[in-house]
Amino acid sequence: MTDTKTAWIADEIASLKAQGLFTTIRTLGSPQGAWLDVDGKRVLNFSSNNYLGLANHPRLVEAAKLAMDDFGVGPAAVRTIAGTMNLHLELEQRLAAFKGVEAAVTFQSGFSANLAVIPALVGKDDVIFSDELNHASIIDGCRLSRAQIVRFRHSDPDDLKQQIAATTGYGRRIIITDGVFSMDGDIALLPALAEIAALHDILLMVDDAHGEGVLGKGGRGIVDHFDLHGQVDVEVGTMSKAFGVVGGMVAGAQPIIDWLRQRGRPFLFSSAMTVPDVAACLAAVDLLEASTELVDRLWSNAAYFKQHMNAMGFNTGHTETPIVPVMLGEAPLAQQFSQRLFDAGVFAMAIGFPTVPRGKARIRVMNSATHSQDDLDQALAIFANVGRELGVIE
Ligand SMILES: *Cc1c(COP(=O)(O)O)cnc(C)c1O
Repeated sequence: MTDTKTAWIADEIASLKAQGLFTTIRTLGSPQGAWLDVDGKRVLNFSSNNYLGLANHPRLVEAAKLAMDDFGVGPAAVRTIAGTMNLHLELEQRLAAFKGVEAAVTFQSGFSANLAVIPALVGKDDVIFSDELNHASIIDGCRLSRAQIVRFRHSDPDDLKQQIAATTGYGRRIIITDGVFSMDGDIALLPALAEIAALHDILLMVDDAHGEGVLGKGGRGIVDHFDLHGQVDVEVGTMSKAFGVVGGMVAGAQPIIDWLRQRGRPFLFSSAMTVPDVAACLAAVDLLEASTELVDRLWSNAAYFKQHMNAMGFNTGHTETPIVPVMLGEAPLAQQFSQRLFDAGVFAMAIGFPTVPRGKARIRVMNSATHSQDDLDQALAIFANVGRELGVIE
């Protein structure tokens, strides 16, 4: 049966398949962890954002169960009507204290947090200076705001200065950057951006999705990493990555957080975080505050993996974080490499155009505190075999 209203979609999908750009979605039959059951096969996992192994941590699971006994499952309302429970406020206070800011507010996801905060702070007479490699959710938040969007070259403070000088006739201004750029693993030059923002009296916002629970003392994030407390106006974060759950947050000065409770549209018009999510996030904060052990292990695992990959002759780009790109060049080679890894028992994603520029295709290795020494050694041996087989290393 052909439906003329949707025929174009079938054509588009056929075209994606013909170009090798159709995303096939792998399915897990196990919890998150160092090892996964993926499409029925047991593999070593280097694809998840489960940096600290919290996604299936017994303390988080237990906290979620206990909270459901007391509070049920769903919030049944948006935050401003009947969806704010004690638990939400407790999590927000704990997050603010953890990050060393006046206040914090939670959202359903990091994506929602960006859609909330950007249009709440700037509107159609205003201007946003946005790093050209910012995450899709920042781009969408910028578009929703209807502000003028001025892109500056990736991590290029000089270009930012020029763009600021060349942009006149604005109302309010904000500079927005990712904290960690997730395709290359590089960290934003936040001290330079903070200096520029202060000099020109421009708001500064960082989206620390891949830095939350990873960078800074015990995972307190990029602002702590650079010791820029008080110099960054808005910290967006996610609890969907290192925190191992799902949820978003915005942390900063009290007036900004108060304003988001009045004008953040996903806060006003989409239901609150669920009970088990909030309780598990509280347990994640407990764990992070109690010990830096998981964060330390994440970094030492990543350093070990990267050092051995480099020694074998792999190019790991210019990462500064536990994200390790293995640069391969053309997309078909990266696809083939990922498939051969998978056949040999390692699950690591190939990433190509349009997510990264043409000719910059890669395998992206996500390190985790969950990997044992033996897991890392097994993975390195498999990378070595596939690398030699495909002529990437000698
Ligand atoms: C992953 C990510 C998000 C989205 O976070 P979710 O909680 O999964 O919605 C937002 N911004 C950046 C920079 C990210 O890397």
